[in-house]
Amino acid sequence: MKRPLIGLVTGLNKEETYLIVNNGYVRALEAAGALPVVLPLTADPEELEACIEQMDGILITGGGDIDPECYGEHTLPACGGIDTERDAMEIAIAKLLAIHPEVPTLGVCRGCQVLNVALGGTMYQDIPSQVPTAIAHRQKQPERYPAHPVDVAAETKLAAIVGAGELRVNSLHHQAIKDVAPSLICTAKAPDGIVEAIEMPAHPFFVGVQWHPERMWKNDAPSLALFRAFVDACR
Ligand code: MN
Repeated sequence: MKRPLIGLVTGLNKEETYLIVNNGYVRALEAAGALPVVLPLTADPEELEACIEQMDGILITGGGDIDPECYGEHTLPACGGIDTERDAMEIAIAKLLAIHPEVPTLGVCRGCQVLNVALGGTMYQDIPSQVPTAIAHRQKQPERYPAHPVDVAAETKLAAIVGAGELRVNSLHHQAIKDVAPSLICTAKAPDGIVEAIEMPAHPFFVGVQWHPERMWKNDAPSLALFRAFVDACR
């Protein structure tokens, strides 16, 4: 059977000499039946259109912080690791994907944040300093272990995949979605109210999760189910 081709949007190392992608995405997509490929880091509209046309699905991976200028704010001291080239590519491709219902889209961690910012949402630049009542979202335990629960909203795509109600997830972020973009809805929240998942109701599969299923899927059925649902949507 032909495997769906899933394009991975990745980041650059500090010296801008290597594309960096966590192998967990590659392995999880393979386990779910896909053929993952790394996309070029480009904001060229023609090349981005080609990516969308030739891929069966797109996964926007995790990484550093989005430049707050992308959502109209000045950078706070605790915001860091900005890659302007990556921001440009990801925001451009996310905007295109939003109007391409035939291409399933999954955003993980930073990728989830990108989907939101590209469509007009905003971010907390730093949870500990901006949301003092928040629980710990940067876990100390190994990345494959869940760190906090989220409450998955009923009657959402996410609920159809992992079930509504409590889901235990890992947590490796210091930023979070503040205002959800108008065309998206929040589909899971942490106990402190922090947005942990989003989706676009008008799109067959436009889903973002703030946690890292690529680091849990080997021992966590809901994480593998998310990759399977994504790959199945790409067939
Ligand atoms: Mn979290």
